[in-house]
Amino acid sequence: MRTLITNGTIVTADGSYAADILIDGETIASIGHDLAGGGATADDTIDATGKYVIPGGIDVHTHMELPFGGTFAKDTFESGTRAAAFGGTTSIVDFAVQSRGASLREGLDTWHAKAEGNAVTDYGFHMIMSDVNDDTLAEMDGLVAEGVPDFKLFTAYPGVFYSDDGAIFRALQQTAGNGGLIMMHAENGMAIDVVAAQTVAAGTTDPIGHGLARKAVFEGEATNRVIRLAEAAGAPIYIVHLSAKEALAELKAARDRGTKAFAETCPQYLFLSLDDMGNGFEGAKYVCSPPLRTQDHWEELWTGLVKDDLQLVATDHCPFDFHGQKELGRGDFRKVPNGLPGVEDRVDLLHDGGVVAGRISKERWVEIISTAPAKLFGMYPHKGAVAIGADADLVVYDPNRKRVISAASHHMDVDYSCYEGRSVQGASDVVLSRGSVVVRNGEFTGHKGHGKFIKRSPADYVRIN
Ligand SMILES: [Zn+2]
Repeated sequence: MRTLITNGTIVTADGSYAADILIDGETIASIGHDLAGGGATADDTIDATGKYVIPGGIDVHTHMELPFGGTFAKDTFESGTRAAAFGGTTSIVDFAVQSRGASLREGLDTWHAKAEGNAVTDYGFHMIMSDVNDDTLAEMDGLVAEGVPDFKLFTAYPGVFYSDDGAIFRALQQTAGNGGLIMMHAENGMAIDVVAAQTVAAGTTDPIGHGLARKAVFEGEATNRVIRLAEAAGAPIYIVHLSAKEALAELKAARDRGTKAFAETCPQYLFLSLDDMGNGFEGAKYVCSPPLRTQDHWEELWTGLVKDDLQLVATDHCPFDFHGQKELGRGDFRKVPNGLPGVEDRVDLLHDGGVVAGRISKERWVEIISTAPAKLFGMYPHKGAVAIGADADLVVYDPNRKRVISAASHHMDVDYSCYEGRSVQGASDVVLSRGSVVVRNGEFTGHKGHGKFIKRSPADYVRIN
């Protein structure tokens, strides 16, 4: 199968130019002017006149089918990757979970079983470590070798995913030796639990209490602490879902002193705020951790993206229905399942709020949604690039088409949208995964099981700015 994409503007992290792309099988075979005129033939031709052609989006933070708070995140690998594809994202990296007392292997096998034969686009895994002990530390080396080179630990959620400083430090020492990367959820969970209990005792049980108890300073403190532990261990570190300017200041200071510290933020921290968590129990729709912050954090995070102190934007996609799932927390915000849907909206929100709003260039947009995630998570240049030999994960993107985000039209398996009614400029017209068209003009043309496991390499930090 050969596909020709003609007359588009190829947009990459490095620059933009007009050219055609010839895809042969699963990879890009040729890039150049008027390939058909030069004799190239194809089974399918996609006219990209007036459109961008970009590398498919890569979302390195999703939770499909995650067990949490007595229920499960609703999207499966099938529905979640399908929704991602509609939104121009052709690869996800999801978090496999080690259950307390079980091995990393058992957790990873469980996640492979969820995804294999079900995902419609490619997927990789990071590993959540719930126990740090001699056995799990030894297992980390094997996972790095088989393409799962990142491990997530938490300073939050005491009694569930929480690791103490000694455990985090041991894991960092292990990655200093094996080339892996520790990813941290950095909030001071111990202190948060104290304030959350006091908040409930004082009579605030609505979801707004979640946002008030999880103070930004608790994220700043934990971010500094884990970065300092990484410096002591001589290991790189990655902060997931950085939401607060206090945390950004610690990250920036670390990078300024030469530390290999990296971070993502998420659309919800750029476009939503604590105000969304008011309005009684409706605020449960916006309960995630770290919580939504006040609006004065927004511009600081955008500046972080402009200056590359923040390298990329991922979603932390973890959808729970408002009815029946979020409602588990009626009367006590601590029982609301934490997480928001978002995998489908990231590319368009960042185009609209970033490129159209004049905050970032279209090249930087491609970098933060695709190329930087590919580099930092060991997929580049197979993913995240428009280059000969790269996987033909491509999106023909209309930068002018406007649409309104709504639960009535989205493809995520969840009964509400955090962005209900928001108009965005920019939308994916045609989406290809390894050379196969999976979405075309609003219709799904892919199939379950097309997605393959991405065996990733440890990141080569020499290449990362
Ligand atoms: Zn997460």
